[in-house]
Amino acid sequence: MLSIVPTPIGNLRDITIRAKETLTSCDAIICEDTRVTGQLLKLLELPKKEFISFHGYTDDGKADYIVERLQKGEHLCLVSDAGTPGISDPGYVVVSRVRAAGLQIEALPGPSAFLVALSASGLAINQFLYLGFLPLKKGRQTLLQTFKTEERTIVFYESPHRIQKTLSELATVLEDQPERTLVIARELTKMHEQIIHAKIATLHEVIKTMTVKGEFVVVIEGTR
Ligand code: SAM
Repeated sequence: MLSIVPTPIGNLRDITIRAKETLTSCDAIICEDTRVTGQLLKLLELPKKEFISFHGYTDDGKADYIVERLQKGEHLCLVSDAGTPGISDPGYVVVSRVRAAGLQIEALPGPSAFLVALSASGLAINQFLYLGFLPLKKGRQTLLQTFKTEERTIVFYESPHRIQKTLSELATVLEDQPERTLVIARELTKMHEQIIHAKIATLHEVIKTMTVKGEFVVVIEGTR
């Protein structure tokens, strides 16, 4: 069986009892970065495990190897560096191959950065549009233009290197909607967690003064 196991996005205490039990009883763990997962097991005081590294969207040979091991009756866990495997990381490739092979899969519930950001945002979250990371070049401007008329709350991930540039682009694209609210969630669940509420009208000021270190989720109010 393949168990999909979410791991904390910052605060280690967000690991679930079920996740700990599953990581303890499995035969091996499929992970992105063996050092990150090794450190996690150590900090959680879980037993050492064999690691199968899987870090590319095109790691076909490795996916075959994983399927073979599951066919032999092994119990494998799939984790990513943080959060829910498959959410903006290569995990879904493994799940799709294992499902195509007709093998048993269980998915454990757990943390994901965009869900934490949405729930803290105070914006309407009965419907939302999750975009992962925005495209860097092709299709980027077209996508940003659609934000002008998107009725649902929009949520996406951004890196510290690009956060200021992206926010500045948003301030320009949405300048006709100065009252629209934007939430910048930084370092969620960590010691330096910060959740900034801004209006499009004030965004340029926020960009000048904000801390750009760490990991970011951006949430934008829909037009409804
Ligand atoms: N699988 C992960 C999940 O379920 O959230 C996402 C993996 S994606 C490669 C990593 C991105 O998620 C980061 O660049 C950042 O945008 C966002 N992220 C992860 N942890 C975060 C945190 N603690 N605070 C804010 N954003 C976070």
